Amino acid sequence: MDQEQITGSLNPQQLAAVTAGDGPLLILAGAGSGKTRVVTSRIAWLIAEKQVKPWNICAITFTNKAAGEMRERVNRMVGFGAEAINVATFHSTCVRILRRFIDRIGYDNHFVIYDSDDSKSLLRDICRDQNVNTKVFKERMILSRISAAKDELIYPADYAAWAGNDQESVTIAGVYAEYQRRLKNSNALDFDDLIGLTVRLFQADPEVLLYYQERFRYLLVDEYQDTNKAQFVFVSLIAQKYRNLCVVGDDDQSIYRFRGADIGNILNFEKIFNDAKVIRLEQNYRSTQTILDAANAVIANNQGRMRKTLWTQNGQGGKVTLKRFDTAQQEAYYIVDDIARLKRKGSFQYGQCAILYRTNAQSRALEEQLLMENVPYSIIGGVNFYARREIKDILAYLRTMANGTDDLSVRRIINTPKRGIGETTVLRVADYAASCGTSFMEAASHAAVVPGLGRSASKITEFVRLIEKLRSQSAGKNVADILKMVVKETGYVEELEAERTDEALDRIANIDELISKAAQFDQAAEKIGAVEGEGSVQSGAELHAGQVRTGLPALQDFLEQVALVADIDSLADDADRVVLMTLHAAKGLEFDNVYLAGMDDGLFPSYHSISSGEKEDLEEERRLCYVGITRAKKRLTLTSAKSRMLRGQTEWYRVSRFIDEIPEELLDDNRNRQTAGGQNEIGGNDSYHMLSKAQAERKREHEEFRAKPFYMRGSSQHTGSSKGTGSFAGTGLRTAGSSASGQGS
Ligand code: ATP
Ligand code: MG
Repeated sequence: MDQEQITGSLNPQQLAAVTAGDGPLLILAGAGSGKTRVVTSRIAWLIAEKQVKPWNICAITFTNKAAGEMRERVNRMVGFGAEAINVATFHSTCVRILRRFIDRIGYDNHFVIYDSDDSKSLLRDICRDQNVNTKVFKERMILSRISAAKDELIYPADYAAWAGNDQESVTIAGVYAEYQRRLKNSNALDFDDLIGLTVRLFQADPEVLLYYQERFRYLLVDEYQDTNKAQFVFVSLIAQKYRNLCVVGDDDQSIYRFRGADIGNILNFEKIFNDAKVIRLEQNYRSTQTILDAANAVIANNQGRMRKTLWTQNGQGGKVTLKRFDTAQQEAYYIVDDIARLKRKGSFQYGQCAILYRTNAQSRALEEQLLMENVPYSIIGGVNFYARREIKDILAYLRTMANGTDDLSVRRIINTPKRGIGETTVLRVADYAASCGTSFMEAASHAAVVPGLGRSASKITEFVRLIEKLRSQSAGKNVADILKMVVKETGYVEELEAERTDEALDRIANIDELISKAAQFDQAAEKIGAVEGEGSVQSGAELHAGQVRTGLPALQDFLEQVALVADIDSLADDADRVVLMTLHAAKGLEFDNVYLAGMDDGLFPSYHSISSGEKEDLEEERRLCYVGITRAKKRLTLTSAKSRMLRGQTEWYRVSRFIDEIPEELLDDNRNRQTAGGQNEIGGNDSYHMLSKAQAERKREHEEFRAKPFYMRGSSQHTGSSKGTGSFAGTGLRTAGSSASGQGS
């Protein structure tokens, strides 16, 4: 590919960034100004013009979805050899490093990765054993403290001092230490460990660090504003030698402070790398001027920003639509109807439409409506496919096969499907394992000598034999075939089939889906056909075509991929589906037609950010709003509802303060429109007029099915005169007596 094709359409600032010479480089720019595009173009340019070897380039993005998109763009630009470029998230990059070298800091290279569910069960066990009062110290709270410490590279021994040395810190320090000990005994890493232990590895072993400094001579990081301390140290260590660090970000889009993101990493980049070249991009290529103006107006209310002005040549575009409804159901109804209408008109395909919201819980009402109207959709987040019981069970078998020391997995499946092995038996084996200092599986394989097992000993032995059989039969098989064998040999699906319930059928379908995913994995592995050389540290890093892995090693790779799948990955790119996700998950993405649902004070900005009184909390919400608005290319709709159900109670909301920050002239606003029915704000009445008779009928049936209609009681200024004035009044809403509470008025 020649230079013209790489740089042809770039504007002068973009061009300067893409073709900047070696050394630290900061690209600081607002949304949609082509930052990600600069990263991909620069990769292509480095290879084509600077003869940089593809395997000497490491590009890091924030989500797997973003990494996938970047890889695709790079593949298209670079062509042959592109697969040797490391384009991945921080977590995936670190896993690859640890798989190869973690034995140098005393772990086994075949570690498993615990998801948050696994971490929680482990923590629950520890709290029980250490008599920690979980009423005072909530498990989730402890986990998030541990996670925060890991983000800051604080180890258990230093935790108490770091956190303040009070009673709480001392307790958490104790749990943290035990948590790490047990993880290590199970040969398991949690998500935060992936980064933290890689840093520790680099610090402990200069040879390994040097290897990666040589290997990743060119380092590029997208969404740099959301890196935390551990990630910052990771990047800095690698970049120390050649200093070819290119970071790209937007301080106005920093939205992961709650996960330890340190906006200082970008604000202080020029101080830390004092010879850094800084390039600003100001032209937005994504959105209409109106959408940009709205975004700029909102974010202007934050203080302490690096001021940026964004402009576009895309034209003014239509106004931002603002709709206010009585209930979340009406809101959902409107959005789905609007999408269906635009699709019928030929304005937008489903896949060009996205519905974004602040919290996952908001998706349910939307999802129901989409189902009812037969509009295909993909939901990102919520109950993750891999968090379902049957999927976790089957994966636990695979993990046990791949790594017998993962006690949590072994205990999960030892009596699943039922083998008549009771809780007491399991505890006896666990005790024995603890007293011998071995893994649970190791103890189980000596069931005959475990005290007190009686006749259960033979059942345990049978289980151990089953696992051994599964292991030996895996040899030479690809992952899909291994999975099919596991499902068959364990009798897992057979047990579900015998249940004959809809739920069981659902579970079987999910297992089939897992097998399909494995088959896709196998195909991809074949296509790449290249395995990273397992050579020594000095052996260089060229990828060479190698044999495709099968059997347990392939299983390892598969489990690793599964463990790293963030929810965002369930997004199927080829299908024409409306996309639903949280604002956080939408970072870096773009859609023609965007709906921001739930623009209500107390929901967005969140109640917490309003009530904490901390300016920073509210500013983070505002940045999230900026991210949301700037996802839209052509059309943006903001919706709000006066009341919503929250944990079974009706809550009342006033319109989000962020909407008040958007100049009136940019909005097409229905807030003050009078309707014939005497309602002071429109709701369902208007919407009903748009329904065909059949649709209206279906809608009514559905509502009757969903909830016995209740007229709202104790309604006051919040509701207008909803009682009996419209078909929507009160339907589907159950108020908990007159206990409706809320922040709004
Ligand atoms: P965000 O801050 O949301 O991550 P970004 O700065 O990374 O945005 P990109 O996603 O790289 O922006 O680009 C936004 C859109 O503008 C993309 O569709 C991209 O292809 C397009 N674009 C960027 N630069 C140009 C250009 N010079 N000419 C035409 N289109 C461009
Ligand atoms: Mg981007």
